[in-house]
Amino acid sequence: MPYHLAHYLPKPIYELIWTLRNQAQTLVYQGKTFTCPICHTGLRKYMAYRSKGEGNPTCPRCRTSRRHRHYWHYVNQFTDLFDGRRKQVLHLAPEHYLEPIFRKRLGKDYVPAGYNDPRVRKTIDLNNVDEPAESYDVIICNHVLEHVPDDLKAMREIRRMLKPDGWALITVPQFAKGNTFEDPSLTSREERTRHYGQWDHLRAYGSDFADRLRSQGLAVEVIYPKDILNQQEIEAMRLKAGEDPLFIARKAAA
Ligand SMILES: [Zn+2]
Repeated sequence: MPYHLAHYLPKPIYELIWTLRNQAQTLVYQGKTFTCPICHTGLRKYMAYRSKGEGNPTCPRCRTSRRHRHYWHYVNQFTDLFDGRRKQVLHLAPEHYLEPIFRKRLGKDYVPAGYNDPRVRKTIDLNNVDEPAESYDVIICNHVLEHVPDDLKAMREIRRMLKPDGWALITVPQFAKGNTFEDPSLTSREERTRHYGQWDHLRAYGSDFADRLRSQGLAVEVIYPKDILNQQEIEAMRLKAGEDPLFIARKAAA
């Protein structure tokens, strides 16, 4: 279902269509071979998303893909996010299915936020942030920076909003073969799709992404599925061992 429908349809109607569509598709894929670690639906196979054949294995019920399963496993098993202690959590552009789960588990200190997004309660423009410094213990920022005009400024804002012991989970699509590619003269949808992979992306990130974060005062740890899962677990979740890196960022020592 096109994401932009969320902007035009009343939220209950959008939610109803979303749920009915997913339930119908789940009937086609349900089985006992895999269990989605996020919505716990039993599947005979994952759905291929946006491509033929294998594609990016996506759960038909909750629509989460490889990168979501990887980060969900990481935050549950390797962080303090759900340890029961109160913490301020800022989730930028929260994923549709995950937002209610985070809200239920984190309570009122969980802040879903977005830019030009009618589904969230708080608007944050990462190039023009109106939040106090050191206000969040955790910031989750998945597939957001490629849409932000000045991504380096956005990284500095993430750093500024983090409490001294806070951490941020950041992911971006990595479309460039070498270093990050950005050309402000590419403005048409066709050009951006060709060079950046999607019409509304403003650059193609490459293998220097962690260094971009580091250049803005963040200490960065890069986590691949193979770093936290064994081969059996990787296959059970249909992940790719050396893809979909998570960037765990903290304030670097001055
Ligand atoms: Zn699922």
